[in-house]
Amino acid sequence: MEKRIYNFSAGPAVLPDEALKEAQENLMALPGVGMSVLEISHRSKTFDNIINQAKEDLIKLLDIPDDYSVLFLQGGASLQFYMVPLNIMPPKNKADYIVTGSWSKKAVKEAKRVGAVNIAASTEEENFNRIPKQEELKLDPDASFVHFTSNNTIYGTQWKSEPEVGDVTLVCDASSDILHKKIDVSKYGIIYAGAQKNMGPAGVTLVIIRKDLLERCSDDLPTMLNYKTHVEKNSLFNTPNTFGIYMIGLVTKWLLNNGGLDAMYERNKNKAELLYNCIDESGGFYKGHAEKESRSLMNVTFNLPTEELEKKLVDEALAAGFSGLKGHRSVGGLRASIYNAFPVKGVEELVDFMKDFQAKNS
Ligand SMILES: *Cc1c(COP(=O)(O)O)cnc(C)c1O
Repeated sequence: MEKRIYNFSAGPAVLPDEALKEAQENLMALPGVGMSVLEISHRSKTFDNIINQAKEDLIKLLDIPDDYSVLFLQGGASLQFYMVPLNIMPPKNKADYIVTGSWSKKAVKEAKRVGAVNIAASTEEENFNRIPKQEELKLDPDASFVHFTSNNTIYGTQWKSEPEVGDVTLVCDASSDILHKKIDVSKYGIIYAGAQKNMGPAGVTLVIIRKDLLERCSDDLPTMLNYKTHVEKNSLFNTPNTFGIYMIGLVTKWLLNNGGLDAMYERNKNKAELLYNCIDESGGFYKGHAEKESRSLMNVTFNLPTEELEKKLVDEALAAGFSGLKGHRSVGGLRASIYNAFPVKGVEELVDFMKDFQAKNS
């Protein structure tokens, strides 16, 4: 088999070796079925078991309470930017948005099509290098919901804990840090996440929704855009991304076999610390984009003294087997995405590489 290199891509991103191997081994024929998972009906007993097992595993990993539904939809997190306000902004038709990056801004743009958006806080003036403090939030106690982005994939910032919003419904875009640690799901009305960062391949969106919110979803909504449709049909109203859901099931199995989310969180903290220490101990050669208290465990963003050096590092790193380190164009510099499946050894080797690069180039 072709050698696998270290994949620091922000998404679609690295998946666990174990999950890929199992998919490969069973690609021609699922055990006891004799057909590929790519070929079976989404109405078959086999697929029923696959989707229900993936759901059960997610419920177990995140301790999702009984009064929530777990959905596997399509259209990415980007469709949720519109579906969330369309379904649950009425009847008040006003919502609070906390803007901490490009994805939050895109969510705001779609919400404005439905109703009034109050920007409860924004750190755009500081090029989104931090998460706002609780006391900075200008929340409307009468809003339909408060929306925030738990991890800002592009800027490399992350909420350490969710904002406090009183009795108002909390909605979270958790696309780039879902399953990186345990969270208290009961604090949320809706959590949504594109699978392709920390959970599986592209093409599936996980939505966790508290069931009482379904009362807000009007029967006049287009069928496919109504959460009620998907809850009633167990995500099988139309043909779902069967392979994507199967892969999510293999990833959740891997998480459960490796100590669950508490063990994953410890591993994630250790990995991020290795990289941030390398940055902090470089005497200013490497400079982190995010303020220290806002640093992400998933996406580590940093700059070098010049753009030439940044390009040189990206090129030399790629030649050495480290792919995907170029930062997003809106921040520049470098970004190392180190999601759950990214191995500790790969971070250790990158740190050695960065130290060596600094010694040769400063
Ligand atoms: C990648 C990303 C998105 C967009 O996801 P799609 O599935 O491509 O629509 C939205 N929000 C965040 C935080 C992301 O990282």
